[in-house]
Amino acid sequence: LQQKEVSVKVIFDEIINKDTAALSKGITLIESTKQKHSKKAQQLVEMCLPYANNSIRIGITGVPGVGKSTFIEALGNLLIQKGKKVAVLAVDPSSTISHGSILGDKTRMESLVRSSEAFIRPSPSGKSLGGVAQKTRESIILCEAAGYDVIIIETVGVGQSETAVHSMVDFFLLLKLAGAGDELQGIKRGIIEMADALVINKADGDNLLRARKAKNQFRKALHLYPLAQSTWSPEVLTCSALEGSGIEDIWELILKYQEVTSKNGFFEENRIQQNKFWLLQTIEEQLKSSFYNNPKIKDELNSQIQGVQQNKITPFAAAHYLLELSKEK
Ligand code: GDP
Repeated sequence: LQQKEVSVKVIFDEIINKDTAALSKGITLIESTKQKHSKKAQQLVEMCLPYANNSIRIGITGVPGVGKSTFIEALGNLLIQKGKKVAVLAVDPSSTISHGSILGDKTRMESLVRSSEAFIRPSPSGKSLGGVAQKTRESIILCEAAGYDVIIIETVGVGQSETAVHSMVDFFLLLKLAGAGDELQGIKRGIIEMADALVINKADGDNLLRARKAKNQFRKALHLYPLAQSTWSPEVLTCSALEGSGIEDIWELILKYQEVTSKNGFFEENRIQQNKFWLLQTIEEQLKSSFYNNPKIKDELNSQIQGVQQNKITPFAAAHYLLELSKEK
């Protein structure tokens, strides 16, 4: 990106011609923190928009070790066999804190990485989850314009990242393990409420019976939740990502979801609501970043914090003062 001026039009043409190198370049532009790239990135996303939207976007979450990579590889390979093109993106909240990644590198999805029908991109890094998620959200549009018809967004089951991913996908799948002791309680309630399917992975070998038992318990527990706005009642399934069993059933469930929610209008309505969410989210992000990057605020913030700590000024008065200061030309 640094060498020559990147022509947005050229990248765009190549993307809709399904050139993966151009897709990568486009996403790098989106992920760039340089001011001069951000305008081009916006142009590119806007050019791609009319070519986007024709995919199914699937969110996948679960704690580290639950088998997300293995599962995505199994599902991805199945979909490619069915003639689909699969893009895998990620939202990794840990990169905002430690600059290391819980999701790890994607070399684990070995066969998917090698397939010409799959595009795999690790999580962007960034200072805030909102910023990271926004970049992934825009990358979805580029992937769709490049002809990927299934977009998988992976995230780790910590923090707020599930909410962010839930707000950019059509179908949200929660991977679980049997016998983790949390069948009935302990699972973050909000996450369960977001899930369109709960899949118990590693249902193989000695674990098979336990997985089936867990499935029944989860089913019972889910009945206690009110029906979602989509009128879809979440299903509980088991699979072995390692052996590839149960994966086909999961894909069929996703197709059933798409059919039901397309008929009742929720599928479209949900995407419209998501657009609204991201509009507001982007405003918040931009306001925050321009506030904290304002040189006047940088100078004053610490002394105001000190003032508050020493009880010389109230937090509200300090906030008011800083906000007024940020408006000054
Ligand atoms: P992630 O951290 O959620 O991405 O999990 P990984 O996909 O890296 O899997 C973690 C470990 O669990 C690896 O050693 C996998 O081989 C193993 N694993 C994943 N899926 C299965 C499965 O269905 N059955 C069994 N027995 N092991 C699995």
